[in-house]
Amino acid sequence: MLTCKEATRLTSEAQDRDLAMMETLGLELHLMICSGCRRYREQMDFLHQACQHHPVRPAPDEKKSP
Ligand SMILES: [Zn+2]
Repeated sequence: MLTCKEATRLTSEAQDRDLAMMETLGLELHLMICSGCRRYREQMDFLHQACQHHPVRPAPDEKKSP
């Protein structure tokens, strides 16, 4: 069984790389019994999606005036 520390590390690593099958299984198993890490993953998912949908770039308005 993963510890919470390992589970949160895998959760954040999953944003950047594909986890191995055993890692995914261990993580999913841990998330089933640990509400704290479930909440952590929900927040990570939210942040990850927010970054993808709203990439950081200059506001279009600022480029209008020459
Ligand atoms: Zn946990």
